[in-house]
Amino acid sequence: MGTELAAAAALLRAATDVTLLAHVNPDADALGSALALAIALRARGARVRVSFASPARAPDALRRLDPGGLVVPAAEVPAVPPLLVVLDCGTVGRLGALADRVAATIAAGGRVLVVDHHLGNTRFGTDHLVDETAEATAILVLDLLDELGVTLDAAIAACVYAGIVTDTSSFRRATARTHRVAARLLDAGVDAAALTRDLMDSHPFPWLRMVSAALGRAELVPDAADGLGLVRTVVYSSDVDGVRPEDVDSVIDLVRATAGAEIAAVAKELAPGRWTVSLRAVGAVDVRAVAERLGGGGHRLAAGFTARGSAEDVLASITNALG
Ligand code: MN
Repeated sequence: MGTELAAAAALLRAATDVTLLAHVNPDADALGSALALAIALRARGARVRVSFASPARAPDALRRLDPGGLVVPAAEVPAVPPLLVVLDCGTVGRLGALADRVAATIAAGGRVLVVDHHLGNTRFGTDHLVDETAEATAILVLDLLDELGVTLDAAIAACVYAGIVTDTSSFRRATARTHRVAARLLDAGVDAAALTRDLMDSHPFPWLRMVSAALGRAELVPDAADGLGLVRTVVYSSDVDGVRPEDVDSVIDLVRATAGAEIAAVAKELAPGRWTVSLRAVGAVDVRAVAERLGGGGHRLAAGFTARGSAEDVLASITNALG
């Protein structure tokens, strides 16, 4: 870790042009991590840009992390950036349509720094700051900023805080060290109440009807996973009128609160017959292994996959994969 950190910092210290990429459908950890580094590097005089392959625009709540307008559309990412920093991606595929930039940069003799905390990161770059025990990529970014001697300002601290608060479920799963990090970020000027309300607790009114429909059709399968129990539901395209993609993500957090279910699953309809499925576990089951059996990936307690077929087929595939 120490060597990786020093090497990553040296790379950034020498850089004059840095392209920072987050995974598709960026969350607060991916985009917050990219923006925290980008703001600091720009202040040091580097040319920087932040991007992700899709969707076309960052979620509303994440746009407040970018007051300086550092996020550019995917089409404006150089074909062969001299230095690429890839954040919060366990595999190159998580970059979606921007994944080709990795091979192009390496082929041209450029460097690709991968900063990530996903279990089983495939180390697809030339340089890596990968720590699977870190609770968020943003924690690793803060280590990097400290190594670079960056003084935290409120904008940088907000980006780091956003990544940590979301990836630790509001500090419920945060270590003592991470709580101390949070204190530092508050000292640097983060308005935690306003930021977390925007990030996690604010939804348009149609969200209530979507949640109502999704929870109304939830089922408890007590026998699943050798009796550990599964709770599952479906969100249909017809439920999400007036609802943003990030609003749908809240359904799994409600469903997983079910007592008597080790595992929670929410299948969201992307298009007729096309699904994205979120899986969560309380602690006893490795849902990443389950997701991998179904072509996806993630973390031990939070994973996902995409699938085709009917809602019944997709839900049955989960029960089967649980054994
Ligand atoms: Mn993360």
